[in-house]
Amino acid sequence: MILLRYGEITIKGRNRSRFEKAAHEHVKAVLAPFPQARIIKEFGRLYIEANGEPIQEMIQVLRHVFGIVSLSPVKRAPSEFDAVLKTAMEMVEEYNPAPGTTFKVTARRAWKKFPHTSQELNHLVAAPILKEFPNLSVNVRQPLFNLHVEVREENTYVFHEVIPTAGGFPLGSNGKGMLLLSGGIDSPVAGYQALKRGLEIEAVHFHSFPFTSERAKQKVVDLAQILANYAGRIRVHMVPFTEVQTKLHQAGEEHLTITLMRRSMLRIASMLADKRKALALVTGDSLGQVASQTLGSMNVIGRATELPLLRPLITMDKEEIVQIAHQIQTFETSILPYEDCCTLFVAKSPATNPNLRIVEKIEARIPELDDLIQDAVDRTEMITLYAGQQQPDALLKQHNQPHDQAEESLHTSSPDHAVSEGSSNQEVGDWF
Ligand code: ATP
Ligand code: MG
Repeated sequence: MILLRYGEITIKGRNRSRFEKAAHEHVKAVLAPFPQARIIKEFGRLYIEANGEPIQEMIQVLRHVFGIVSLSPVKRAPSEFDAVLKTAMEMVEEYNPAPGTTFKVTARRAWKKFPHTSQELNHLVAAPILKEFPNLSVNVRQPLFNLHVEVREENTYVFHEVIPTAGGFPLGSNGKGMLLLSGGIDSPVAGYQALKRGLEIEAVHFHSFPFTSERAKQKVVDLAQILANYAGRIRVHMVPFTEVQTKLHQAGEEHLTITLMRRSMLRIASMLADKRKALALVTGDSLGQVASQTLGSMNVIGRATELPLLRPLITMDKEEIVQIAHQIQTFETSILPYEDCCTLFVAKSPATNPNLRIVEKIEARIPELDDLIQDAVDRTEMITLYAGQQQPDALLKQHNQPHDQAEESLHTSSPDHAVSEGSSNQEVGDWF
């Protein structure tokens, strides 16, 4: 079994049950690829019964369940001394201590009717183990191998590893935001940081097909799939940006093209946010990184939306961002060399300090702009990715459906057909 511990924040206050429920549902979603696994809820914690599913693989996804601070592989025994000792012995045997391994038993009697106190149990369990495993020697201060024995009313849990996990707030417990997801290194990391802070996210990607390739689009789906593995599910909105982009380029103000494009992106993302009942936009901006991320640019760009713009990476150095990208395994995909729409028509010297009034004037000179923006929103396609899906390639073709049609499938009680074969956890779709 695997024991999951909630963060302290979730144990306190009125929000506790809401937080616990969100974390529980998140666990359920990321375990969809492991259909035999069973989740057992207990006061202040969760257990996963493996039932033959691979423990290490499950740990890899469970490590990223937000609101959970640590996990342990555990063995369960009925709360009765002989069974507890036998299980403890099994755990030591599996650990297979090397000569000179320091050791102690840390027993905790949570169920006071158990006949031995915690102190007594420490000795009662340690003595026969030391006899059986001569490689072990006692060190109560800093043992390498600390065998925990937790006695609860029905069952006792034995474990020795405590693996730190993502922490943060349970998924979705802080509302929903639209993540502007490019194919770069930064925005997937921003998405992960937002998820970790308890934000549910839906991704918005702007593509300029046919100037940008199918492959570039697929790269973004692959990145979103990695995020879906953490989130349980991610919806991706694919916005056809070619017409808007071409029109902005025709304005002939080359050094302002990026500023203008970004503003239109924010407008479109805000309209999608309204549709999807999201209350913020999330970007991968990092202060000063490129021309469009100077304070002057962000000021002019940001005014295109009334929604709060969340920038989780704003004060981070590129090295820190890259490090997280490696940890969450988006880096290798992000550095694939497919072009982003923003690298098209890009000026040699983009404005680092654009003038808001001038930018607004240029926009006012393009009367079709509002219609083109509305049209892009209308033609946006939505796909839904679930944790553990293996072939986003095929899915992209299959699930390219217009926005409003996709809307309907949202309200079906089971996850739509985008769930891969073999992940039969029918409850996954219910909780979002
Ligand atoms: P990234 O590595 O995320 O692409 P970046 O450092 O390359 O970021 P820009 O390309 O200037 O910076 O983009 C800044 C932010 O604007 C991105 O982090 C992302 O949130 C958003 N963005 C840029 N291009 C797109 C796109 N084609 N679709 C959706 N969002 C985009
Ligand atoms: Mg980029």
